[in-house]
Amino acid sequence: MGLVLVVEDEVDLNNLIRDQLVGAGHSVEQAFDGGSAVAAIEKSVPDLVLLDWMLPDLDGLTVCRRIRERHVMPVIMLTARTDEIDRVLGLEVGADDYVTKPFSMRELLARVRANLRRVELDARPTDGTGAEGNRETIQFGGLVVDPTAHAASVDGNPLDLTPKEFQLLHLFAANPGRAFSREFLIERVWNGDFDGYDRAVDTHVTRLRRKLGRLGEHVQTVWGVGYRFTRPEG
Ligand code: CA
Repeated sequence: MGLVLVVEDEVDLNNLIRDQLVGAGHSVEQAFDGGSAVAAIEKSVPDLVLLDWMLPDLDGLTVCRRIRERHVMPVIMLTARTDEIDRVLGLEVGADDYVTKPFSMRELLARVRANLRRVELDARPTDGTGAEGNRETIQFGGLVVDPTAHAASVDGNPLDLTPKEFQLLHLFAANPGRAFSREFLIERVWNGDFDGYDRAVDTHVTRLRRKLGRLGEHVQTVWGVGYRFTRPEG
């Protein structure tokens, strides 16, 4: 259950998806082009976005990139394209999942449900102040991030992190695979109060990367977007 924004220019298909989602207990907003999708998200932030790739004005990739400048909700792309390269492109701009057209409504509803559930289960990102956000310890691939103790370690070796570096790591580790723009990081980690250039974010990330040692390579630069943390195995 949640508010789902359906972005699809084919009116019949958009309405059909809306009816199915409403029938499954979700609230739905509709947008029929990229520009109004971006506007709708700024007006009321949905819990999930179903985003058609081919739209008349801004294409789905551009819309997704815009969304990721400020938001972390799941984005499922609807696409007739099946090429691997497009899949990669979509992930680069921060899409979470794909449904390839033509799809069954059953499949679509299942993916919506799965993505909404994942958000609930995921550790929520820190809000930057440390006052909110999930306090659960995150642990995988030799990495441990303990927000309560404000401590992190790799393979049992404690990391000596500044508070901002810790917040960056917590945000990354709580959202593996998710691309974050520099603007978003400034908003979240520095609460928008940042007198530097975007370059300063890069400096912090570079330092964090170095301190992470063998896991440093998991903090990846996403060209034209910002950064993403890929989940280490284990
Ligand atoms: Ca379309």
